[in-house]
Amino acid sequence: MTSVVIVGSGFTGFETARHLARRLRRQGGAEAVDITIVSPVDYMLYTPLLPDVAGGLVDARFVTIPLANSLRGVDAVRGRVDSVDFDARTVTFVDPEDRSHTRSWDRLVLTPGSVTKLFDVPGLAEHARGLKSTAEALYLRDHVLEQLELAKIDSDPAMISARRTIVVVGASYSGTELALQLRALADAAGQQMGFDPAAVQFVLLDLAEQVMPEVGEKLGEAAQRVLRARGVDVRLGTSLKEVHPDHVVLTDDSRIDTYTVAWVTGVTGAPLIEKLGLPTERGRLKVDADLQVPGHPDVFAGGDAAAVPDLTDPGSITPPTAQHATRQGKVLARNVAASLGYGTKKLYKHRNMGLVVDLGPRHAVANPLGVQLSGFPAKAVTRAYHLYAIPRLVNRWAVSLAYLTDVFFARSVVSIGLSSADDAQFSASEGIPMPKPD
Ligand SMILES: Cc1cc2nc3c(=O)[nH]c(=O)nc-3n(C[C@H](O)[C@H](O)[C@H](O)COP(=O)(O)OP(=O)(O)OC[C@H]3O[C@@H](n4cnc5c(N)ncnc54)[C@H](O)[C@@H]3O)c2cc1C
Repeated sequence: MTSVVIVGSGFTGFETARHLARRLRRQGGAEAVDITIVSPVDYMLYTPLLPDVAGGLVDARFVTIPLANSLRGVDAVRGRVDSVDFDARTVTFVDPEDRSHTRSWDRLVLTPGSVTKLFDVPGLAEHARGLKSTAEALYLRDHVLEQLELAKIDSDPAMISARRTIVVVGASYSGTELALQLRALADAAGQQMGFDPAAVQFVLLDLAEQVMPEVGEKLGEAAQRVLRARGVDVRLGTSLKEVHPDHVVLTDDSRIDTYTVAWVTGVTGAPLIEKLGLPTERGRLKVDADLQVPGHPDVFAGGDAAAVPDLTDPGSITPPTAQHATRQGKVLARNVAASLGYGTKKLYKHRNMGLVVDLGPRHAVANPLGVQLSGFPAKAVTRAYHLYAIPRLVNRWAVSLAYLTDVFFARSVVSIGLSSADDAQFSASEGIPMPKPD
């Protein structure tokens, strides 16, 4: 029996497993090839809706696609791979009870994705939280609401104001979406809890000189208008210098008193990539255009974890987006199957098809196939796109109902306490090694 091991169950690993199993079934190889997917979680996470989870619009379960029942012919194994032996052709992984296991492979597909890029900002890893996992999204929702509730009990005006101040760092699409979803949640909280929503202040920081450079100048400006209209204080050319439990210091030396800092500035390859001892580019594993790891013909990689040459823009690598990750998963499936004698391989080539960005109640911007949209048409395209892209009917159904509920009813203002501050630390929720205390 030939064994294929896929590391990671994100967009790339999920699509690789699904399409490889399908290809082998069609081409008569299903009985001869064992496919295993190893991941610390038992789901594929539809990350583009994490801001909606943080904003209390969509339930976390709706954005998680269970591996069980979605990947026919694939064995899903719970564990975090911590080493790969390329000579012995084995991977070692640690299960949720910290026990170590080893699996052998004939073909290995490395798709462990990315983690939040942490800069050397004192206090950042301890006091800020990211937006890459359900634990982080749920924590942000609960924490923001809890701070607003505590502000009602406090009598010190300075403390009340700090509790009602939320700092989001990173004005790319995910940071901007997060700021606006939390704004909508705070507005609902104000209306339902009896305080003026305008008392909740949002500050959005970015070192760049433009909001959402990914969508171009015109749509970036449209997004900035929405942010201003929604009362978000956008400070460009500025980031964090220090993070403390009750305040931050900005790079312009100004101080903001706050208990809530979300760090959504960008990603780097998963920690596993660094451990492999193979060449990397910008923290991502180098691969050829056929997604093979150079010098290791039986090892493949794709998605955020891999530096995939962008054949549409020679000299550059494909950006870390779900759009590329999904398509690279399909090419990985094809090329792994080809390496086993089923079909032919192909090079990865995909031209960017644009981006959709949900800017909270009634607003969005989108540039599908280069057509620039804002306002209601962008909102319709954005929601329709997500419903199409979520890879499971039940989840699409549940997200549609959440959107519909939001049209007819006020947003639920509840912090259920599903994720603690510890659960949402970068180390616990994303597996990023914490810096050692001095
Ligand atoms: C908030 C947010 C919003 C986004 N919105 C968009 C959007 O609107 N459009 C867009 O195109 N892109 C978007 N992205 C980017 C998109 O999510 C990524 O490009 C995509 O998830 C990459 O897919 P991947 O499979 O490479 O990695 P991931 O989806 O990160 O999956 C990696 C998988 O590997 C697992 N893993 C990690 N380490 C190990 C290990 N050691 N062993 C085993 N398994 C491991 C993880 O648990 C996970 O299952 C967004 C990202 C975020 C965080």
